[in-house]
Order: sequence, then C-alpha cells, then structure tokens
Amino acid sequence: AASPLFADLAGDIGVSFEFFPPKTEKMEAQLWDTFRTLEPLGPSFVSVTYGAGGSTRERTHATVARIAAESRVPPAAHLTCVEASRAEIDEVARAYWEAGVRHIVALRGDVPGGEPYRAHPDGYANAIELVAGLKAIAPFDISVAAYPETHPDATCPQSDLDNLKRKLDAGATRAITQFFFSPDSFLRFRDAAAAAGIEAPIIPGILPVSNVSQTRRIADMCGTAIPAWMVSLFDGLDDHPAARQLVAATIAAEMCRRLYAGGVRDFHFYTLNRAELSYAICHLLGLRPVSTAKDQAA
Ligand code: FAD
Repeated sequence: AASPLFADLAGDIGVSFEFFPPKTEKMEAQLWDTFRTLEPLGPSFVSVTYGAGGSTRERTHATVARIAAESRVPPAAHLTCVEASRAEIDEVARAYWEAGVRHIVALRGDVPGGEPYRAHPDGYANAIELVAGLKAIAPFDISVAAYPETHPDATCPQSDLDNLKRKLDAGATRAITQFFFSPDSFLRFRDAAAAAGIEAPIIPGILPVSNVSQTRRIADMCGTAIPAWMVSLFDGLDDHPAARQLVAATIAAEMCRRLYAGGVRDFHFYTLNRAELSYAICHLLGLRPVSTAKDQAA
C-alpha cells in the first residue's frame, strides 16, 4: 500500500547536484565517492563551482573534464568574471568547449574579502556580459543565478528580477537559485518571474543544513534568511551529529515536498561534496537508481 508520507509525489522529479573542486587527493577521493553514489540517481547534470577570484581554475577544469570523460552525466562548469580579463575568461571557456563540456553556469562572482564588487578593467562587468561573451564563443547551454530573497547588491526585488531577465535574454536557458529556507519565498519569486515575462525554468537550489551556525555565516553573506523554526529544530543537538543529519534530511525533504506541491519538478542540490544527505532526500522524493555509468550503458 502507498505510504501516506510523501504519497503526493508521482516519481516525476529531476535533480542536479553541485560539487566544489577538491583541494587535496583525499578530498578528491571523497568527491569521486560522492559522485559515484549520486550518479545512479540519473541527475540531469552535475555542476562544479569556481573558487573566488578564479582560484580553482585548474581544479574546476580537471574535475569537470574528468566527469565528462568518465560518466554519461553531463557536467556543468561554473565560471565567474572576477579578477580576470575577457581574454582569460574566453580562453577558459574555449578549453571547456574543446574538452566536450557544453554547459556553463555563468556568474559575476564576488571580490575576495567581502569588498564591494568592482569589475576587472578589461573584464566582463557582470553576468549579463559574461553570458553574451560565452554565446559568442560557442553555443553553450548556460545557467545563471537567481535570488528568491534578492541579491544583496540589488536596489530592490524588481531590479534583481530585471537583471535575471536580462541574463536570460542574453542567452541563458535556465536559472538556479541561491539557497533559501522558505518554500513560499521561492514560489512567490517564481510567480513574480513569470509575471515579468520570464519563461525559462527556475530551479530551486536546495542546501541540506545539518549545522545552523555554519550555515548562518554563509547565509548572512548572500542575504538568505535563517528562520527561527529552523534554529529551534537544531536546538540541543550540538553533541548529536547523527541526529542532526536526520533532522537535516527531514527538513530538506519536507521543503522539497512543499515545492513539489507548488508545481516544482526540478531540484538542484548543494551537496558540499557529501552524498548521504542528498541521496536520502532524493530517495524520499521517490528517486531510485538507474544505470548511467558509461561502461554499463555501452
Ligand atoms: P549578476 O547577476 O551579474 O549581478 C548580481 C546582482 O547585482 C544582481 O542580482 C543585480 O540585482 C545586482 N546588480 C549589479 N549591478 C547592477 C546594476 N547596474 N543595476 C541593477 N542591479 C545590479 N560564486 C563563485 O565565486 N563561484 C561559483 O561557482 C558560484 N556559483 C554559484 C551558483 C549559484 C547557483 C548561485 C546562486 C550563486 C553562485 N555564486 C558563485 C555566487 C555569485 O557569484 C554571487 O552571488 C555574486 O554576488 C553574484 O553573481 P551573479 O552572477 O548573480 O551576478
């Protein structure tokens, strides 16, 4: 008999997973284990972030190129405008195209150290320009960032939405959102985007949280609110890491279920290079392993 829990899910969701490039051999082994665990869930793509100021240029490329070479899951490479000339960024993009990478997550990025953003004198000024620059190089599939709770640099939610529309009009095909913890704020944003004439898919970025104080530091920087209910759910769990994981999966799965009820079918998971939480949440959402490895499919 169907379980009454999560029974409203019809097995029709799509997922993608985000990783960061590993710094050490040990971290690389861990990332690869994570990738191999999540890969059978059949993600529509996996993406690899780009460190502040291009600090992970080689490592992002190596990770993305390895995924392209060893898996059927399409990789997406994040790329930012920070501290690089157009020529340097264009060279990185061309190298991706040559390595068979067709999907770029195009971002402005942030200046390291938290200072106000300033463009490189010979660089792309923002993500709109970067999208247009990438399209001039090759017919990349391009994703851009969106902010359900408004980017801190935006003068108002409407100007942020206009900015998103311009990125899509410049040639991006979808937006992936910053993480958020209020399903309603995402659904309102999606509806406002539709009202503004945005037709491209807006995929919610889901960050499974098992440590509220760590998350608060990142959330403060990117303008995401941490709701009081979430803080209280982790209250008293400082010395219970396993219980925190279970609570984290429960919260994220419930959030996804509410988004699903609001019509959302695609979810992007910020995995932090760990498989178990994302795997458990996807499982609760009805996802089951499919065969995707190159050798199995051959
Ligand atoms: P843009 O869209 O160019 O602009 C940022 C905001 O500034 C806009 O929302 C807009 O409202 C406002 N703004 C700027 N100029 C104007 C103007 N003239 N008029 C009106 N409004 C203006 N960072 C990394 O370093 N590496 C990554 O790999 C990375 N991956 C990310 C993935 C996702 C899915 C998301 C959501 C973010 C990611 N980031 C990453 C963070 C991102 O670089 C920062 O949020 C950055 O501050 C903004 O980048 P953007 O591409 O949204 O910028």
